[in-house]
Amino acid sequence: MSQPLISLSKINKAFAGVRALQDVSLEIYPGEVRCLAGENGSGKSTLIKIIAGVYARDSGSIVINGKTYERLTPMDSIREGIQIIYQDFSLFPNLTVAENIAMNYQLAKEGPLVNWREIRELAQRAVKLIDLDIDIYEKVGNLSVAEKQLVAIARALLYDAKLIIMDEPTTSLTNREVQTLFGIINDLRAKGISILFVSHKLNEVFQISDTITILRNGRKVFDGAVAELDRESLEYYMTGRHIDKSDIYVKKIEGEKPLLTVENLSAEGRFKNISFSLYPGEILGIAGLLGSGRNELAHALFGLRPADSGTIRIGEEQVVMDSVQTAMRHGIAFVPEDRLTQGLLLEQTIANNINICTIDQLTDSRGWIDEERAAEQVEQWIGQLKIQVASPENPAKSLSGGNQQRIVIAKWLATKPKVLILSGPTVGVDVGSKEAIHKILRDLARSGMGIILISDDIPEITANCSRILLMRSGEIVAEYQAGQLSEDELSDILLAS
Ligand code: ADP
Ligand code: MG
Repeated sequence: MSQPLISLSKINKAFAGVRALQDVSLEIYPGEVRCLAGENGSGKSTLIKIIAGVYARDSGSIVINGKTYERLTPMDSIREGIQIIYQDFSLFPNLTVAENIAMNYQLAKEGPLVNWREIRELAQRAVKLIDLDIDIYEKVGNLSVAEKQLVAIARALLYDAKLIIMDEPTTSLTNREVQTLFGIINDLRAKGISILFVSHKLNEVFQISDTITILRNGRKVFDGAVAELDRESLEYYMTGRHIDKSDIYVKKIEGEKPLLTVENLSAEGRFKNISFSLYPGEILGIAGLLGSGRNELAHALFGLRPADSGTIRIGEEQVVMDSVQTAMRHGIAFVPEDRLTQGLLLEQTIANNINICTIDQLTDSRGWIDEERAAEQVEQWIGQLKIQVASPENPAKSLSGGNQQRIVIAKWLATKPKVLILSGPTVGVDVGSKEAIHKILRDLARSGMGIILISDDIPEITANCSRILLMRSGEIVAEYQAGQLSEDELSDILLAS
């Protein structure tokens, strides 16, 4: 085999006593696609920053392209062809694609500012490297997440990148966009460029990577070919425990009347003729790509943006779902897709976030909050959802993604809903928390709640849903029963839509 592009050996790094990395070794060869996996806090970002020269290691050796680095600076790393694409892509939204590409290039080359012709040529050269079909004069702020990412990749390639590191590159992409990204990764691999990418999504790991390094609590617990692993062993290495995947969730409660009945619900330009019923104990999956109308439907059911026509019944009662207040009064709760902007008050305490939807019930007629009941409620949900918090008085932003999502679920469960609607509940959440959230949903359904689970995470849908509705261009086009579709079949159906 050729010599490794980069070879890290026995790297140690501690932050104020926390051992973020312990004796971690890693080699990456030219043209290798390697996944760096591990739960939150396992040390992935620290390792990446050491490769980038952003953090200095405490001990261990680094050899890049045959050269040993006693100290590695960010400039050394870039000069050796290492490019990192962070989750925010480090792009300037108010500048054009061309300006973003050229500006970085200029900064790195430390040359004088280029003229417009050079900017255009640089940008055209960059986008051609990945056959990206994009208007280079478009403002980056107007691009989709996927396009921004591709611009960041094109920009990275201008530096003769030999290794591109991507931190959770697929988090905000639809399935189709993920496939586009993987196509590009395959092309880069064919050109001998190496990729190191961080991912929590097991499907993707299996689809795209050749090799995988798994970290747990700062130690390397697996290093080898992806082909040596199956889902179960991969999850075991990541979490250190065997996750019970025994069966698919199926509705257990028979002969009940529906909790929610939707008939011919339509909204101009958003969705049309939506009809379905939701039964107690059921987890009803709504699968569909971004733009299929899945979120618009959820918004209408929750009164955020009412439908134009059709009916919604809660139990027997027909309800005009004209506001969130109406929806909440009828026992509907909604956990939105974007918890960071819609679901959580990040600066507020964990306790306040949990109590926010039930503050009226915790307040007496004089407007005093019953502090004791408020504290009890917080304690109850932290216990029940096993939320890991140092103190409920810490701000919500201090928690990991998985725990933040549990807070959002807790605040809605405190309203004692009959129907719980969730959109992408485990996006950006580590594997352990993901399983925990799925278990919470199953337990809630078993206790008689009706759950609508909107997601494009295929294993999440196939494992947890009693029934699956497929949405495409605003309509329900198919219905499947639990166990009817394999993951691959659902994946094909979604991609074809
Ligand atoms: P991951 O990216 O896998 O989620 P990190 O590398 O961010 O993990 O973190 C590994 C460990 O190091 C965690 O315990 C984290 O709290 C700690 N850590 C990371 N960066 C810092 C820092 N700058 N200061 C203090 N502790 C840190
Ligand atoms: Mg990280």
